[in-house]
Amino acid sequence: MMRPVFRFAPSPNGALHLGHAYSALLNARLARETGGRLLLRIEDIDTARCTPAFEEAIYRDLAWLGLTWEEPVRRQSEHFDDYAQALDALVDAGLAYPSFMSRGEARAMMAEAEADGREWPRDPDGVPLFPTVERRLAESERRRRIAAGEPYAWRLNVEAAMAHVGAHVGADMGRPLTWDEEGAGPGGETGRIEASPAAWGDVVIARKEVPASYQLSVTVDDALQGVTHVVRGRDLFFATAVQRLLQELLGLPQPVYRHHDLILGDDGRKLSKSRRDTGIASLRAAGLTPDDVVRMVGL
Ligand code: GLU
Repeated sequence: MMRPVFRFAPSPNGALHLGHAYSALLNARLARETGGRLLLRIEDIDTARCTPAFEEAIYRDLAWLGLTWEEPVRRQSEHFDDYAQALDALVDAGLAYPSFMSRGEARAMMAEAEADGREWPRDPDGVPLFPTVERRLAESERRRRIAAGEPYAWRLNVEAAMAHVGAHVGADMGRPLTWDEEGAGPGGETGRIEASPAAWGDVVIARKEVPASYQLSVTVDDALQGVTHVVRGRDLFFATAVQRLLQELLGLPQPVYRHHDLILGDDGRKLSKSRRDTGIASLRAAGLTPDDVVRMVGL
């Protein structure tokens, strides 16, 4: 029988807090209970915000919690070639386009539309969708701007991509794009979930300053590492839609997903890496034991 593969995939752009402890401990427990493997992946494509010190602290905090993982750890910054290959496949299929527009230009376009009384659409996190006008930029214009050295990101044309996989969600033709959810979404959604990647607009698959994006690298790595169970916080529930679409486009297998509760602070708000009080290192310094942490997160 194939052993289940779990992973904990933190970004070393801040200190781990109780929410990360919960996620890591839950992955470890599920791996133990199912005779599965636990992988640790360092999601450090954002080379400007991720630091070796934060990465060291991740290893230290997780080891203190009593966790063990397989070596070598996959560090995304060492695998840009893998993401470039996936990007090339999407570009070659005509599903991605270069996007030169700056955030400022995008904001101006949104403001103009809203001044005209048109409501600008927002993604599931409430962020305004990036304009899609560059889908229609002439090929000669693209080449000219690239040759002139203008910075650009690569965006996925989500409509073309959905058509490509025949996943017309809600339409009569085609099959819906779905995933299997063993946890729950923010509204209690569970079981077979219909994915709506279009809700995120034309997502970035390679950033201007980094030849990859969270969505692309996480999808490629989960497949390359043979991850069968993605267990992570509920804040990534809707992002799963984009990852399912990328899996279909790239011919990658789909794992099972389990989105778990978020640990909230005393104020009822999501924990953040900048809050010191719930940082694992702070708790350790305050004299708490790993068992105390396990109890605090309810495991
Ligand atoms: N690296 C992401 C984070 O730290 C998690 C990615 C994932 O679990 O899919 O929020």
